[in-house]
Formats: sequence, C-alpha cells, structure tokens
Amino acid sequence: MKSRTLFALALFAGLFCAGALRAQVNDSTKQLSREIFKQLVEINTTDSVGSTTIAAQAMAKRLLDAGFPASDVQVLGPNDRKGNMVARIHGTGAKKPLLFICHLDVVEARRADWSMDPFQFIEKDGYFYGRGTGDIKDGDTFLVTTFIRLKQEHYQPDRDLILALTADEEGGAFNGVAWLIKNHRDLIDAEYVINPDAGDFELDNGKHLLVGIQASEKLYQDFDLKVTNPGGHSSLPTSENAIYQLAEGLTRLEKYHFPFELNEVTREYFKQEADIVGGQTGADMKGILQTPPDPAALRGFPRYLITTRGFARPALPRDWTAATPTTLCPEWRTPT
Ligand SMILES: [Zn+2]
Repeated sequence: MKSRTLFALALFAGLFCAGALRAQVNDSTKQLSREIFKQLVEINTTDSVGSTTIAAQAMAKRLLDAGFPASDVQVLGPNDRKGNMVARIHGTGAKKPLLFICHLDVVEARRADWSMDPFQFIEKDGYFYGRGTGDIKDGDTFLVTTFIRLKQEHYQPDRDLILALTADEEGGAFNGVAWLIKNHRDLIDAEYVINPDAGDFELDNGKHLLVGIQASEKLYQDFDLKVTNPGGHSSLPTSENAIYQLAEGLTRLEKYHFPFELNEVTREYFKQEADIVGGQTGADMKGILQTPPDPAALRGFPRYLITTRGFARPALPRDWTAATPTTLCPEWRTPT
C-alpha cells in the first residue's frame, strides 16, 4: 500500500530523532521516497542474474548527491555482483553507534509466473506492485530517505548512525552482513542493530493498526534421507525397493503433525493479534489460547499453525535485533 511506506518513514524518522524532525512527512520527502522505491524495484537484484552492486551504487549516489562526503559512503563486496553499501552519519560520540541493516537482494521472479513485469514498478488501485516492494526495498527506501533527511537537516545524534544495505539475505553464497562482519567489522560495529525486515507497520484504510517487532525467529532444518537395502539386478526387480521404502517414509512424515505448542512470544502475539484481526480469525486465535486449545479453532487458521507446531522452540535470541527472517516454510496442513 502506498501509505504503508510513507507511514513507516514518518514513524522511523520519529523513532531515533524525536524532536529533531517533525513527524509530518512533507511532499518533497514523499516524492523522494517514491523515486528511490521505484529505482530500487526496477534494479534486478536476484541471485541468478541480478546485481546488488548496481542497487548499492545507486543508493550511494543518492547519498553523495544529498551531501554525504565520499569518505562516509562505500560500496564493498566480494565480487562485482554482490556489493553492499555502508554509509555513516557522524554523531557526537557520546554513545556507541547504532546500525540499521536492510537487504537489497530479492527472491527470484520469473516473468512467466507474474501477471506483470516483476521488475517494473507499478502503482495500481492503491497498491505497489513489483518484486521487493514488500521484502524489503520499501525498508531500504525509508532508510535511505531518512538518512538523506537527517543529513540535509544537519542533524547530529549522540551516536553515529550507520546504514548497511546488503546482498544475499534471501539466498546466495555472499551474505552481505556476514561478509561485512568478516571483512569490514570496523565499518559496521555498533551497540545494537535495527532491521526493518524484522517487523512491519500495518495500516487498514488509513487506520494505524500496529508496529510489529520481531521477538523470536522460526528456524528450519534440512534433513538428508537415505534408504539402503540389498538391491539386486534390474532384470529381477523385487517389491523390496529402496525407492518405495523412502516414499513410504515420506508419506508417514507427511501425515505426522508436530504437537501444538505455545511459548511466551507466540501466546502474546495471538493475544494481541486477535483483537486487531477480529472476526472469525480473531475468535480462532482466542480459541487456541484456551486450555486445552479449542480443536475447532485449531482447524480454523492453518496459515498460523507454523508458529505453533514444528521444529523450533522460539526464545528471545540475544542478538534478536540483528536477526534477518526469511519465510520459506510451507503451510502445514490443518490437523484432523
Ligand atoms: Zn527480507
């Protein structure tokens, strides 16, 4: 939604410079954020054929044009396609730096799978379309725009503010955060990190619904399954076939449902979300909070079951602000 990004920008600006900036976003800032958003979406940053370097250079140019000295803006990376951008606003040094990270890369998008060109920025019926509009070039946009505003208003915080726009969060072999930590730790060393990809701002027809903050992260695990049996010659096939045995095992796995489980984070999430969502889904959320959980409610919203069943036992990780979530997990079936 159009207003979503702008709302995020306004709130974000207010987040770390309350008083220095008016909460109201003026028209030129709106225009600038829209231009940056369009520019980023139209730069293909997929792992297969895209380049985060081009996006990083484009954002670096934006900052340089806005008055950042060249010494405070850098594009660095392991090769010419996986560049990261790091920029800095100098504070008084009273406190340790604060780092903002956001990834530049996007998930693959085949033109044939889309009803429109995924790398063309389109605004239609109150929505923005294009790969990365929601993950997370909107975040890149409001960070770059906010850094430009801060520079142009000569804002001096009590700590350095660092911006790192990075490669390969979604996949690929050159994760920008890991690469920067390993090769240029001095450039991004900070007291703590804020990552817009770990939360969201939600509006419903102009009404402010929530500011989401990530308090835990679902984890996934890969398994290799191997089946061996005596085998034999292909001219004498037997019913004891390793391929069928493996298939039987996978079918059993498909039918298995991990036990329903809440922890302090998911319990609180559903409690808060129930009233915001309302309707039947909200009622179902309240239903699963009962002891024991209401079975009908459990069947009501399979989309959410992934947060209550599975491999992970979420707990607040020590460095949760640096977590970069990527939701790759398929939906679980509703238990029967
Ligand atoms: Zn993301």
